[in-house]
Amino acid sequence: MTDTQHTKVLIIGSGPAGYTAAIYAARAGLEPIQILGREPGGQLTITTDVENYPGFADPIEGPWLMEQMQAQAKNVGTKTIHDFITDVDFAARPMKATAESGAIYTADTIIISTGAKARWLGLESEYKFQGLGVSACATCDGFFYRNKPVAVIGGGNSAVEEALFLANMTSKVTLIHRRDSLRAEKIMQERLFAHEKIEVIWDHVVEDVVGITREDAAKDGGIPGMTGLLLKNVKTGEGSDLAVEGMFVAIGHDPATEIFKGKMEMDSEGYILVKPNTTQTSIPGVFAAGDVTDKIYRQAITAAGMGCMAALEADKYLGAS
Ligand code: NDP
Repeated sequence: MTDTQHTKVLIIGSGPAGYTAAIYAARAGLEPIQILGREPGGQLTITTDVENYPGFADPIEGPWLMEQMQAQAKNVGTKTIHDFITDVDFAARPMKATAESGAIYTADTIIISTGAKARWLGLESEYKFQGLGVSACATCDGFFYRNKPVAVIGGGNSAVEEALFLANMTSKVTLIHRRDSLRAEKIMQERLFAHEKIEVIWDHVVEDVVGITREDAAKDGGIPGMTGLLLKNVKTGEGSDLAVEGMFVAIGHDPATEIFKGKMEMDSEGYILVKPNTTQTSIPGVFAAGDVTDKIYRQAITAAGMGCMAALEADKYLGAS
């Protein structure tokens, strides 16, 4: 027999937005059910030190922060479930969500906090040096590269914004782009070109990240970390080296909205649209919080703030309906 559970608030996803929504919904007596997804904790579980989440004087670890948020959500009464939602029916009332396990959840309101994933170049070495120089978030990790040379990959607004941010603290920023023009807004480009600490390398791609991996260090000694990049000129095929201690990949993000496509309003990149200054989506009773709707700030603290908003709005919606 299919396992069906009803809840006033179904929270899909478990990053800072989802957990904060759960904490607020539970404390409002709404007895939320939270479906954690395939990677509970989300993007913060692949970061190391977190220094910009308020409330902690010393650096904390991303995975630990997410464990704490989950424990807090549970302690105040959230039912957390390890499962993955594969389909939703917003037209039914109560709404319906089907999980990978076969379980069905019916819900009066739904908070979508499924997050987004940074796109990576797809190099094996890029993966090996994550947390050792390779990052997808300058705001999160830039501080660790004070007075060191770094590279930023990409040519969109994110890449330019990250390069400008990093130029404030690093010794030099090299922006590497695969074409000979940027897609970033003109005003951002002007700021980038005017910055004395930023150099742009056009028509190049990264072929490899080099340095001492954790395995190398365990075997041969030395301090793990990246030392440079192997580049290739896409027009001439010529290879070159670039000595940098950090590589910030800023080639876009993909919001995790596959199962909601065609069922609610989204922008052309798949981010869920919400009414200004709210988390209300185009479907009454469905709210979206965190990176699944935000492509500008993408911070744990802003996602948490939106999770709080979503729970308060869900409570208000339930009170009015
Ligand atoms: P974009 O999709 O705009 O840009 C991605 C960049 O990465 C492009 O220059 C693209 O190159 C390059 N790229 C993609 N794949 C690869 C690859 N495999 N190897 C090398 N380079 C690659 O993503 P953004 O994250 O910059 O921005 C996403 C959205 O968010 C945009 O709408 C943007 O305007 C918005 N945004 C707005 C901000 C603001 O208003 N302050 C800040 C940040 C983002 P190519 O150009 O050749 O396709």
